[in-house]
Formats: sequence, C-alpha cells, structure tokens
Amino acid sequence: MTYLPADARYDSMQYRRSGRSGLALPAISLGLWQNFGHNRPMETQRDILRRAFDLGVTHFDLANNYGPPYGAAEENFGRHLAADFRPFRDELIISSKAGYDMWPGPYGNFGSRKYLVASLDQSLRRMGLDYVDVFYHHRPDPDTPLEETMAALDHIVRSGRALYVGVSNYDAERVRRAAAILSDLGTPLLINQPSYSMFNRWTERDGLLDTLEDVGAGCIVFSPLAQGMLTDRYLKGIPSDSRAAQYEWVRDQIDETKLARVRALHAIAAERGQSLAQMALAWALRDERMTSVIIGASSVTQLEDNLGALSGPVFTDDELAAIDEHAVG
Ligand code: NDP
Repeated sequence: MTYLPADARYDSMQYRRSGRSGLALPAISLGLWQNFGHNRPMETQRDILRRAFDLGVTHFDLANNYGPPYGAAEENFGRHLAADFRPFRDELIISSKAGYDMWPGPYGNFGSRKYLVASLDQSLRRMGLDYVDVFYHHRPDPDTPLEETMAALDHIVRSGRALYVGVSNYDAERVRRAAAILSDLGTPLLINQPSYSMFNRWTERDGLLDTLEDVGAGCIVFSPLAQGMLTDRYLKGIPSDSRAAQYEWVRDQIDETKLARVRALHAIAAERGQSLAQMALAWALRDERMTSVIIGASSVTQLEDNLGALSGPVFTDDELAAIDEHAVG
C-alpha cells in the first residue's frame, strides 16, 4: 500500500538546533546500525521507519558498514526510501559515515581522503541518493593527518556529496583541532557523535559539551540505552531475540552488579511514571546543548516507548542525585 505519512507528524517531536548551525534535528533520531540488515524482515524495517517518520523522526543515521553484512542497512534503507519516502526527501536528514573497516586493503578503513570519498560514493549508490545531509568521519585515525581527513570532508561538501559534515568518537581535544581546520577551510563542523548513556559518561569527564559549545557544533549521542541495558529488556533474563542473545560482546556486559543498577534505575523511572528507556533518554537529553540521541529499535513497540521520553516530567535535583548513585561509567 502506498505510504502516506501522518498529517500530525510534526506535532509532538522537539527539534533542537545543532550548535550554531541552521540545522535542527529531532531530539530523538533513529539509527540503523542493527535491525536493518539482511537478517531482519523488510516488513519490520518498513514498519519501524514509517512509524518513526509519522512521529516526527526526521533523522536517520547510517554508516557504510551497518548490516549485516556491511552495506546492507544502506541498501535496505535505499529500498524503503524508493518505496515510501522519496516524495519526502526534503523532510529528511540522512547521514552516513566512513572510518571503520569496510573493504579489504589499505583504502577501506580509517581516515584517508581516498577512503572517505570512495566510501561515500558507494554509500550514495547503495541508498540511491545524490547527496547525504550529514557525512561523518566515523572514528579518529591515529596515522592520517587530521588536515587530510578534514580537507576530505571539506571536499565532500564542496563536491555536493554532503550538505554538512561531522565527526564521531572524537574527544574534546581532537574536536577542537578538527573544528579549527574545517573553519579555516570554510566548512563548519556541524556535530560530533560520541557514545553516551547513564552507563557511559566519558564525555562528561572530557568536557566535550563545553568544547562543542565553544566551537559552535552540536552533539548527537549513540547507544543512549546502552544497547538495551537501560530498558526492561534484560530484567528477567536474556530473551532469545535480543541483541545480547545475538552477540557475545553485548552479553558480556550483563552481570549481577549491572542488573542491580538497572533495577534501581527502573524503580526511579517508575516513580516518575516512565519506563526506564524513557527516563534514560530524557536524562541523556537533559542538557539543552545535547542536540539529539540516536536510538536503535527492533520493533515499533520499542520505538513508541522511546518517543514517549519527550513527554515526561522535568528532573528534580533529588531525582538526578538518585540517578547518579546508579548511573556510573
Ligand atoms: P540503543 O542504546 O538505543 O540500543 C538499541 C537497542 O536497545 C535495540 O536494538 C533494542 O534491543 C533495545 N531497545 C531499544 N528500545 C527499547 C525499549 N523501549 N525497550 C526495550 N528494549 C529496547 O542504541 P544502539 O546501540 O542501537 O545505537 C543507536 C544508533 O547509534 C545506531 O543505530 C547507530 O546509528 C548509532 N551508533 C553509532 C556508533 C558510532 O560509532 N558512531 C556506534 C554505535 C551506534 P534488541 O535489539 O535486543 O531488541
């Protein structure tokens, strides 16, 4: 059936400006790292994407290697775009990235100009797009001069392949240098994409938000639910369809100490009349300089639960202090 988006799609979402740019992003964005590979039914993917857009999620975050296999999420997103979202391209912010392992040999990884430009060309072909809205360098490269990587991002904008550029997994010091190089080239740094959640607070220790504010860039965080730990997903064991059941490296993060923290946070959320997922997202967004949180969702139910985060109560100081006791990392 032809997809017609909900008329009310802009009624409940909040949009936050990314740094000092002109671009506003939805406070909650949807990531396609997991749940959109060739191992997931196209119907489920379609339902999640449609519902997201119906609820005002205008931003979809991808990368060259999202799948499995690598490239599959972009390929599938391209199909959904062609079937459902093509008429709404100008209402969408689509991002992609390169920086991790993608193809064999010395040109399919890290941060050279050769890799970034070739990878984005492949991403555009997979998605059937002329341009992405945001293109990221996905992770720092210790060996390529930052000047080369930033010049590649500048070139990518000037050649029309992307409208804005960002960096991901960069710390404050590297963000400052990257922003200065880009500024000299005349292409502002739009945003940084670090990890952040109640169980992963390195950006606070790093002073990242202050630096981003200084340089005029926004902040969009990934894994704000700690890949599902900060939800009710694992309170009664490891469900067979969960990410932890699928991947050992996720399973390894679940232990009794962690679960005790999850239960305590769950109780605080219940007192606020929220699910733990909703409270975790609202918490990650509590600083207004936080442009957006990128969630993953394996079902429409999860997506809807998460978007409910935006209508919860403001945190009291007592609640924040209680959360601090259990939110470590
Ligand atoms: P989350 O922390 O939001 O974890 C998502 C997972 O949590 C879901 O797949 C689901 O697990 C579970 N979940 C989500 N909502 C609920 C809910 N309401 N109730 C119960 N369980 C829930 O984020 P991700 O780790 O998926 O990362 C989000 C996005 O961030 C990625 O898609 C990607 O775009 C980006 N990212 C960027 C990285 C980078 O280096 N720049 C690295 C990693 C991610 P289940 O599948 O078990 O149902």
